[in-house]
Amino acid sequence: MADTVIIGAGPAGIGAAEVLCASGLRPILIDEGARAGGQGYRRPAAGLALDMGRLMGAQAGKYAALHRRFEALQRRIDYRSRTLVWAIEGRQLHLLHDGRAGTLAFDKLLIASGAMDRVAPLPGWTLPGVFTLGGAQLALKDQGCLIGSRVAFLGSSPLLALAAGQYREMGADIAVIADTTPFPAKVAALPGLLRVPRTLVRGLGYMGASLLAGTPMLHGVTPVAVQGGSRVEALLLRDARGRERRFACDAVALGYGLKPETQLADLAGAAFSYDPDFRLFLPEIDGMGRAGPDLYLAGDGVRIGGADAAEASGALAAHALLADLGQPQDSEAVRRLTGQVERLRAFQRGLARAFAWPKAQIAALPDTVMLCRCENVTVGEVRAAMNKALGPLEVNRVKAMTRCGMGRCQGRVCGPALQEIVASRVGGDGAAAGRLRGQAPVKPVALAAAGTAA
Ligand SMILES: Cc1cc2nc3c(=O)[nH]c(=O)nc-3n(C[C@H](O)[C@H](O)[C@H](O)COP(=O)(O)OP(=O)(O)OC[C@H]3O[C@@H](n4cnc5c(N)ncnc54)[C@H](O)[C@@H]3O)c2cc1C
Repeated sequence: MADTVIIGAGPAGIGAAEVLCASGLRPILIDEGARAGGQGYRRPAAGLALDMGRLMGAQAGKYAALHRRFEALQRRIDYRSRTLVWAIEGRQLHLLHDGRAGTLAFDKLLIASGAMDRVAPLPGWTLPGVFTLGGAQLALKDQGCLIGSRVAFLGSSPLLALAAGQYREMGADIAVIADTTPFPAKVAALPGLLRVPRTLVRGLGYMGASLLAGTPMLHGVTPVAVQGGSRVEALLLRDARGRERRFACDAVALGYGLKPETQLADLAGAAFSYDPDFRLFLPEIDGMGRAGPDLYLAGDGVRIGGADAAEASGALAAHALLADLGQPQDSEAVRRLTGQVERLRAFQRGLARAFAWPKAQIAALPDTVMLCRCENVTVGEVRAAMNKALGPLEVNRVKAMTRCGMGRCQGRVCGPALQEIVASRVGGDGAAAGRLRGQAPVKPVALAAAGTAA
């Protein structure tokens, strides 16, 4: 018998499961992680006595509440942890659970697969000791480890100051917080951000704490290189006045905001359109998260909005699913959730403008920089292939010519930078470069498992 299936046990998936359970359904909730909670509210590994209250700071209450609610929910759902969905064909999911392959048919599918870091390469970014910002946070929350003892935070994101604060709290020295977006661009975005004053104040608080701790905070920097022999030794950049600055460090966390994990939505048949603020192709949804017949998308996996928006959008998508099953609609709840999701996502759109993706810096990367680390393709090789190409250029064609985006990560890491390099050649906005199509397996799986798919 087919079922209602939710992929992703973060705030969005949990929010959705609660609404479905309240209406008498028993959804299947699948997550590749060992413990529910998702990325932002990740639980430490079993047996690790981490003080999450201290680590989560202002988010500690919400963190604890989500985990309490999941415990209450767990016996009312069919929860399948450590289960990766690596392909979708028609109405069937391809799964991998503890190394064993399997399939699962569904009637209705709600995907809440969350986000991942968006990476902007720079010379030296493949040196040991360079992490994404999210990776640096996960090392802390999942394993209680620091990525280094003196860490530089580079990128364009309000989460740089948040993560630097978490690292400082756990005993690391912070070499610098360096943001590529100029300060006036952030000031210009302030009025739009006032729609969610509490989050704005929290973000300003993280910056204030860094200033009080004496951490150098630079805006409008141009990254030059991560330097080092066998591992990171320093971060070199030009400040807003064009002066070269070198910050000694043993690790670098790169944070250019998040991008939705949309591969499963792609395989499930969602349509995509280009979003110029985020400079990404995103799945098309209606106001409640419907993306096609019996397909619902929620959380950061469809629009970056943060944990509260994820939870509300999960609940909203579940209401859409129930309405499509013919159940009476709780219009008051739908109205409240719709307003909440719209407000929080508008805030994130403001943040995307205030902390811009550095498209010009990426387009100007030196030829020698490694772009696709899975397949060892440099920026220069991509440019050379584009010079030789006959006919119209777009990202899937460049991928076929160079293998950039064809490796283990399937373009999840190099895709956004590849998009900008192609866009800078074809002209127009980022949309002109085309969309890197999602392919199964969405994450690496053993060949034996792949053999189960047609
Ligand atoms: C690394 C990282 C760290 C973050 N840290 C913070 C933070 O400290 N504070 C903050 O406010 N926000 C943080 N965020 C933002 C965070 O994404 C949101 O606040 C919130 O967690 C979004 O909720 P969600 O339910 O949409 O997605 P998530 O919480 O990301 O949950 C998605 C779930 O889907 C599962 N999943 C994805 N793909 C598959 C698949 N193919 N098969 C099976 N399961 C799958 C994942 O394992 C995950 O548990 C972080 C994001 C990332 C990526």
